[in-house]
Amino acid sequence: MTFFIYDSFSREKKKFEPINSNNIRIYACGPTVYSYAHIGNARMSVVTDLLVRVLKTIYSNVKFVSNITDIDDKIIEASISSGKKIQDITEKFHEIYNNEMKSLGVNKPDVQPKATDHINEMIEMIKSLVEKNAAYVVDQHVLFDVSKYKYYGKLSRRTKEEQIAGSRVEVADYKKNPEDFILWKPSKKNEPSWNSPWGEGRPGWHIECSAMSEKCLGTPFDIHCGGVDLRFPHHENEIAQSCSLIGNDCKPDKFSKYWFHNGFVTVNGEKMSKSIGNIQLVNDILKKYSGNVIRLSLLSSHYRQPMDWSEKILDQSKKTLMRFNKTLEENGVKKKDNNIMKNQHMSEFLEALYDDLNTPKALAVLNGWFEKLKKKDLPNDLIVHLIESAINILGLNLKEEKNNSENVINENKKKVIEKMIEDRQIARQNKDFKKADEIRDKLKKMNILIDDTTEGTKWILND
Ligand SMILES: [Zn+2]
Repeated sequence: MTFFIYDSFSREKKKFEPINSNNIRIYACGPTVYSYAHIGNARMSVVTDLLVRVLKTIYSNVKFVSNITDIDDKIIEASISSGKKIQDITEKFHEIYNNEMKSLGVNKPDVQPKATDHINEMIEMIKSLVEKNAAYVVDQHVLFDVSKYKYYGKLSRRTKEEQIAGSRVEVADYKKNPEDFILWKPSKKNEPSWNSPWGEGRPGWHIECSAMSEKCLGTPFDIHCGGVDLRFPHHENEIAQSCSLIGNDCKPDKFSKYWFHNGFVTVNGEKMSKSIGNIQLVNDILKKYSGNVIRLSLLSSHYRQPMDWSEKILDQSKKTLMRFNKTLEENGVKKKDNNIMKNQHMSEFLEALYDDLNTPKALAVLNGWFEKLKKKDLPNDLIVHLIESAINILGLNLKEEKNNSENVINENKKKVIEKMIEDRQIARQNKDFKKADEIRDKLKKMNILIDDTTEGTKWILND
């Protein structure tokens, strides 16, 4: 069977033809680890995880790399505002991110490289770009000269004016072109810094993905994934950096053959933002719904479409999963068929997923099987086996679902926890630290961990 992928570089659906069918290589831009992941971050992880799982039904060797950004302006800001060490922040949120994604059924990438472990590779890459005249040094900064790369702007299809407006970088007078972007910059006092030919400093954000994808996968690789918001400038800049190492007329597909971008997530019709206060953190949703419910909700719309997140979708998915569970409990499979993947009914389900991950269609096929089960249209064993196999490909774990749904916190318990946190806050304000500590210990016994952040106290279910 053939997989079809919508390539967001050429903006058309294409037959997936791997560079080497014995070695499929995929890269995704991972999280910047300075705070809790929101549902938009989770969507990228879940749909990319599904892409990897689906390709694994066709190819035996699929390697998936997704990086961790552990040095960045936002991390430095978080360190200054909280008074915590950078490494303490990044290690903590790296672990939280991996745990949350595990709850959502996301397999850990085969390699999860950290930016700070690849500073030398980045320096070497920047040195080559300067030697090749694609980058220039000014005032201890190294900048990429976008006028030197023939295909700059081809991924996002932006005009020069849109590129300048969208790059959100200050137009400093040392830049040759306003769209030129930073490869290396001097660190301010108290900021992390590394030795380089251009002085003590730190890398810009974009260069890390060029360096880590080259090191962990080699270029060109098959598919580059990420949220659509990264298309410009981040992905445009990755292409410019990696291709310019080969030559200024090197075609973008010498970096990644296909580009896979997932759509935005809005909340009740609005963009998620701090000022509106509608950012949906995975951590908070997991208190009320299981990871399977969140995963199914995210897969209920096509990955390329914008998705409007709401409790309604979660409740619908919860009902669907309960129905899956009940059916499978009532109908155990006695005899399994080893050729289930080749079964014609299964092909219908797989064809939907092989058509650029058409999950709404795949879920409709799955739902149709429940109808057939009721009407006894097909042998019981076969249909239950089909359902089980399909659920497995989607990465839903029904065994876990049963345990999890008992762990999820109900509204009453949530109110009790929040009241206790409020009492602890008051005790702390009154400098009654003994009482504050007692409340924290009590919460710990209830399996609730608390985390005092600059945005107030958060709580996490410790499982
Ligand atoms: Zn990246």
